[in-house]
Amino acid sequence: MLDIAIIGAGPAGYSAAINARKRDKSALVIGQSGGWLARAERIDNYPGLPGVSGAQLLETMRAQAEAMGAQTRPGVVHQVMDMGGTFALSLGGDFVEARRIILCTGAKQPRLLPGEERLLGRGVSYCGTCDAMLYRGKDVAVIAQGPEAVSEANFLASVCGSVTFFGAPDAALDARIVVSDKKPEEIVGDARVTALRASGEDMPFDGVFIFREAMALSALLPGLAMDGAFIRVDRSMHTSVPGVFAAGDCTGLPLQVAKAVGEGCIAALSAAQELR
Ligand SMILES: Cc1cc2nc3c(=O)[nH]c(=O)nc-3n(C[C@H](O)[C@H](O)[C@H](O)COP(=O)(O)OP(=O)(O)OC[C@H]3O[C@@H](n4cnc5c(N)ncnc54)[C@H](O)[C@@H]3O)c2cc1C
Repeated sequence: MLDIAIIGAGPAGYSAAINARKRDKSALVIGQSGGWLARAERIDNYPGLPGVSGAQLLETMRAQAEAMGAQTRPGVVHQVMDMGGTFALSLGGDFVEARRIILCTGAKQPRLLPGEERLLGRGVSYCGTCDAMLYRGKDVAVIAQGPEAVSEANFLASVCGSVTFFGAPDAALDARIVVSDKKPEEIVGDARVTALRASGEDMPFDGVFIFREAMALSALLPGLAMDGAFIRVDRSMHTSVPGVFAAGDCTGLPLQVAKAVGEGCIAALSAAQELR
């Protein structure tokens, strides 16, 4: 069991990991490398490192966190489950257990499709590895908006009757997969998914798998109190859920590296304090 699991591999996440390690707590950062900061060509307002590129700064933070003993792992956390004092995080077909959670998920919230939230678990899935067997021999759609889409679609092709892939594949797809250039607009169904509306056409499917870089917070941790688009926190970076902290762009403006690393530090120290 980990002391602290950190969701999001940006500056807030690495700062949280570095400071958790300073308090001798085990820490795992989960997320794809190359988040938002990696797109910044030049940072002039981060103290001590004038003119550094975003990618360089992020890589230095990752290396520092790892050198201090933090673990890192690529992937998307699909759900955080409160086990009554500890937490289980689902990612892919795997689970990670931790005593405290720090959400460092950034400001970019995925836009959900109409019908997606309502039909989650009733034909809508975020995990091929977990749910493929429910669709053995059936027809499924894959909506590809993240790095796991191709590998998950290839796995689904080995189990499902048919797989239709919506999006641009970034690697080789199994020959059994059909690629559609239609634009997904809505997930259709009453009790269960019956179709995907794409470019105005209702295409019948038994299931719709959606793979993104990030999860909507309402699906990641249902019940988390928000202030508009941002997670509500107090000055110690506690969220409304006991044992869960948040830091960085996900807690509000200004969307800046210095604020993200400052909050990551506070969140880790607050979490470590609770674990003493
Ligand atoms: C082009 C550009 C230029 C910028 N220039 C500057 C600048 O000059 N100075 C400055 O201070 N700031 C600048 N910024 C802003 C800065 O990049 C952000 O403020 C900073 O990256 C916020 O850090 P963060 O860790 O909170 O979030 P992010 O860096 O956004 O990292 C969050 C990460 O969490 C991941 N994630 C989300 N949900 C999940 C999940 N469920 N499972 C796993 N991972 C998940 C996301 O994919 C993302 O990689 C710039 C941003 C951009 C895009």
